[in-house]
Amino acid sequence: MTNEEIKNLADQYLINTYGLRNLALVRGKGTHVWDADGKEYIDLFSGIAVCNLGHCHPEVTKTIMEQSQKLLHVSNLYNIEPQVLLAKKLSECCFAKKWFFCNGGAEANEAAIKITRRYWTIKGLYKPHIITAEQSFHGRTLATITATGQPKYHKGFEPLMPGFSYVPFNDVSALERAITEETGAVLLEPIQGEGGIRVPSPNYLKEVRELCNEKKILLIFDEVQTGLGRTGYLFAHQGYGVEPDIMTLAKGLANGVPIGAMGCTEEVAQGFSPGSHACTFGGNPLSTATALTVMNELTKPGFLERVRELGEFFMNGLREIATAHPKIKEVRGRGLMMGVEFDEPVSPLVNQLLGQGIICGSAGPNVLRFLPPLIIGKEELAQALNALQQALGALGW
Ligand SMILES: *Cc1c(COP(=O)(O)O)cnc(C)c1O
Repeated sequence: MTNEEIKNLADQYLINTYGLRNLALVRGKGTHVWDADGKEYIDLFSGIAVCNLGHCHPEVTKTIMEQSQKLLHVSNLYNIEPQVLLAKKLSECCFAKKWFFCNGGAEANEAAIKITRRYWTIKGLYKPHIITAEQSFHGRTLATITATGQPKYHKGFEPLMPGFSYVPFNDVSALERAITEETGAVLLEPIQGEGGIRVPSPNYLKEVRELCNEKKILLIFDEVQTGLGRTGYLFAHQGYGVEPDIMTLAKGLANGVPIGAMGCTEEVAQGFSPGSHACTFGGNPLSTATALTVMNELTKPGFLERVRELGEFFMNGLREIATAHPKIKEVRGRGLMMGVEFDEPVSPLVNQLLGQGIICGSAGPNVLRFLPPLIIGKEELAQALNALQQALGALGW
């Protein structure tokens, strides 16, 4: 089928939640993807930070093939070998010593919200309220759109879930003022993704942690986008030297096989007991075997160091371009999670780059967002920087 034939069927048969799309990508290898008409692209978006190891990574493909010949699904009525091995591996890599698996980011955050509420209930305390940040993004279920501090995601879906309030990101005193006796947790992305690649000041997360300790409140980090090596650390909080009580993962965890995970301390894990939460597909053999392979790749010696180096190279290149283009207000990010804020909507620029064979995205209307596969090389990043310069020229920006 051609791009156009696929588009026509999409228009006819899909509920229109994603708006106008002309392209169908049908094949990928490493950092490259091809559309249905055969055009080649460099992928600087990784399917929104999912294919962190690039497309059709040989080890990932091998695992999927082998596991699909062995066992796809048995339900959580039985123990699942790759699931326990994945939980062990994740526990060895961070603060979280207990894990629950599900299918994606919103579900992982639902699990975090539910365990928070039940944890305090079991302690005999009424602390169901959760404070989140403005411009945050936590998913599209009813509870997670409520947690999401952006009114545009709430419109028309009221009544929202009770028990959430919002404070400006990167403002500790606003957070302190918002805390009440009934506050049970603070939920934050260490770096805001969809909200515009907003990077906190160096001490913010540390101060939030101290405040949470002092007020006896749980700290939840939503690492759905920032996790799995994206920022040059396995988990972004490790780059800030701050540990939460609960962390959620999804996107990059199985490089494209759907999975979500909620990890927490031994203490918080007591919030759930048999029957209190479940997920049919959660942690099934296919997704967890794949995720284990991903984790093994990400933790190979030198992998994250290389991401940090590439991130610095890309950031410097973007900042150099910014000096010559007054429409660029700021370049920000960490590792290979990069945002370029313009003083007007970036959709014409995204389309221009697409025409030039470069796939990237936006984060809010005015921020160009880059989330390249972590296996990308310097040459391709340099190529992307050239393409960006060319695109800005073509638009007269
Ligand atoms: C994408 C994202 C989610 C939602 O994940 P889904 O898998 O789409 O439910 C939640 N939090 C953050 C930070 C995200 O980037």
